[in-house]
Amino acid sequence: MRHRLAELRGPDVPAKALDARALAALAANPGCRRRAILDGAGVDKAALAGALGAPSDYGQSQFALIRGNTFEARVKADGGAELLRLTRTLLDPAAEPPAGAAVPDLSAPGPEGRTARTALALREAVAAGGWTLLDHPMLALDVAGSPAFLEPDAVVVHPDGGWTVVEIKSFPMLDGSADPAKVGAAARQAAVYVLALEAVAARLTPPPAVRHEVLLVCPKDFSNLPTARAVDVRAQRAVTARQLDRLTRVETIAEELPEGTCFDPERPAGELTAAVDAVPAAYAPECLSSCELAFHCRERSRAADAVTRLGRPLRAELGGLGTVHEVLSAARGESGDPDDPVVAALRRAAALRAEALAAAADREAVPCP
Ligand code: SF4
Repeated sequence: MRHRLAELRGPDVPAKALDARALAALAANPGCRRRAILDGAGVDKAALAGALGAPSDYGQSQFALIRGNTFEARVKADGGAELLRLTRTLLDPAAEPPAGAAVPDLSAPGPEGRTARTALALREAVAAGGWTLLDHPMLALDVAGSPAFLEPDAVVVHPDGGWTVVEIKSFPMLDGSADPAKVGAAARQAAVYVLALEAVAARLTPPPAVRHEVLLVCPKDFSNLPTARAVDVRAQRAVTARQLDRLTRVETIAEELPEGTCFDPERPAGELTAAVDAVPAAYAPECLSSCELAFHCRERSRAADAVTRLGRPLRAELGGLGTVHEVLSAARGESGDPDDPVVAALRRAAALRAEALAAAADREAVPCP
């Protein structure tokens, strides 16, 4: 199977490792077979999108990165005193105050070394009791048989031995709430770390509890002061676990592809378009903020007149009608089963619209006194 995936990627193209952001984005569109096979084969989707003539602007700007790093340094100042205070206040108020928490040195050569060092620090923290802050630990998660190395912003070990993932983001929390789309993306990313931590915990006896409520730390209102909220990531964790499980079965998708299919960005654009089109996609506007192929898939979705590009909620309302043409035709009474509740609702809506337009036209036709 590895051989087949290497063929799909291109024989001389190295596999692109998946990071937490990429793994989290998988959970954002669990029904997309195109993304599953490209990620499973280790295809560099940004390079592929460029070769298809639809480069993405997905990713963080340099300015956002610098702002994020500055805020994170502030949150972790003084041995993470404020970060630990927020963790206790929101997630473990009955625990002792986190004065004098341990902050172990996690440096080691290479990702494997850092992963082993992190696992040791976690074990020692549980044995020692009290509060421990792990600053940028390194975790490994098995993805389709290979380890993906992941680096959360922080992990806190509670006095009871439980572990909490901390995500530090630079988008603001205004009056205690933040942009739901951004919170959702952060929750999906944190869920990946939770899964990786669970793999570490499973190797300890007894296994410590990996908390499914993570701590999201953001700037308060328009200031640079940290504030936080607890985010329950159980749903995101379940979706990501299912997606990762599907990734290990990308062979089913691969087997259905025509012989010779290859996603090597060096191939001519026409060949690449045919290769990408050979795998069914599930485009939705959410792809624009989570997948490098979004501009290409949006274009193909428009060309196919698909209703998915109008958003998942609307798609769900339209039942078996898959194209805008089918929807309009059903609304006009030219096609569709009148007993189908979706078709009936469309015709009722079309009739109401016609009535409203006629009434508006009548009002305009009345001469001014
Ligand atoms: S942009 Fe395309 S490949 Fe990526 S998740 Fe959306 S539909 Fe799938």
